[in-house]
Amino acid sequence: MTAYKTIETDILILGSGGAGLMAAIHAHDANPDLDITIAVKGLLGKCGCTRMVQGGYNVAIAEGDSIERHFMDSIEGGKWINNQDLSWRLVVEAVKCIAKLENQFGCFFDRNPDGTVHQKAFAGQTFDRTVHKGDLTGIEIINRLAEQVWSRGINRLEEHRAIAFVRDTSNTRLAGVVLINMRDGSFTFVKAKAVLLGTGGGPTMYRYHTPSGEKTCDGMVMALRQGLSLRDMEMVQFHPTGLLAGKGTRLTGTVLEEGLRGAGGHLLNGEGERFMLDYDERGERATRDIVSRSIEREIRATQQRRVDEPELPKASEAPTVETPVVEQDSQLNAAENLLEDLLATVRETPGLTQLELYRHFADRDRRELQKMLRELDRQGRLRREKKGSSYRLFPL
Ligand SMILES: Cc1cc2nc3c(=O)[nH]c(=O)nc-3n(C[C@H](O)[C@H](O)[C@H](O)COP(=O)(O)OP(=O)(O)OC[C@H]3O[C@@H](n4cnc5c(N)ncnc54)[C@H](O)[C@@H]3O)c2cc1C
Repeated sequence: MTAYKTIETDILILGSGGAGLMAAIHAHDANPDLDITIAVKGLLGKCGCTRMVQGGYNVAIAEGDSIERHFMDSIEGGKWINNQDLSWRLVVEAVKCIAKLENQFGCFFDRNPDGTVHQKAFAGQTFDRTVHKGDLTGIEIINRLAEQVWSRGINRLEEHRAIAFVRDTSNTRLAGVVLINMRDGSFTFVKAKAVLLGTGGGPTMYRYHTPSGEKTCDGMVMALRQGLSLRDMEMVQFHPTGLLAGKGTRLTGTVLEEGLRGAGGHLLNGEGERFMLDYDERGERATRDIVSRSIEREIRATQQRRVDEPELPKASEAPTVETPVVEQDSQLNAAENLLEDLLATVRETPGLTQLELYRHFADRDRRELQKMLRELDRQGRLRREKKGSSYRLFPL
């Protein structure tokens, strides 16, 4: 049998991100006599995604904002399929948590000249409510939480990867967790009265991803192997903007944070055109799912156009086969009919937005419609007027 050492603790916490560190602090404060151990794949305070957070922390604390508004933004952003009880708890607890992070744990968040907490614009919000420390918010939070953990004398098992839950002899309860020391390959069995899983998810099935490298879903697999159910597994969030620095560099996969769009950054397609307003009235400040999908559509449309519009051969190389006249005529007629339909719709409802018009022609490709509207505008057959964050259309 493979040799292993055994450690006993009251509470074993797996993972030292925001979830794991907060849990350790709360458990200690609830009962300082408890023996608490944090086991983590990396170094405590140096690994996990929480440390990587650039943007910040959404919380309704500003005058004019409200918890209800934060809740509704979250529910609408989640297309009404969120667990509303959990969402409500999140927005309510966020207010208490940010106060704790500042006043009890010593996080310094950016301030306005009048001393109130500065909150920046993030996607899907009807109010600027992201509390931050420059764009190093995660480092600030994790450093302060790690100090709190160290000062409480909580045990640490660093560079230890949890690999399996072990049941007790009754086979109905957990006895502890087997971990592998990543430095020397030795095994440790941590016997615990309670185990808290804070290992997060994992993106490594995707070629390009932005979370920290040690997030590989293995914690979830351990749970699944014990017959525990996992929920909402299809809800993978794709951060819409990142850096593709190319082969041969480890920079590829770095997030270009959302605050860039919140501060007014525009997304341009391969032809240098701003396109987000064609998909959502909020433009670049639409929620991440919408921005990601829109980018994907634009990329596909550009690729499609490249296939549709190959470089024309020189006259001398041009093939002599002619497109049948009947086919050409019917294509031209169809395009002309669509132009007329577009103009008729704009005449019927002057001032309608480009997005509303797309909805009228839901069966047509948006790129095709967009191209036609631009062309009609250029020809002076209608007027596209930028109003707020959308284009409005007027007949001429
Ligand atoms: C680049 C980036 C930017 C982000 N920006 C924002 C933002 O602006 N605002 C926002 O609200 N959210 C943001 N997020 C999301 C946010 O970071 C996460 O939702 C949050 O940090 C998750 O916290 P956590 O404690 O669950 O996980 P993590 O902080 O990832 O911690 C997981 C811990 O588990 C450990 N671990 C994993 N597997 C094992 C194992 N088998 N054994 C032992 N230990 C293990 C890891 O080493 C790590 O310590 C961002 C995420 C990324 C990647």
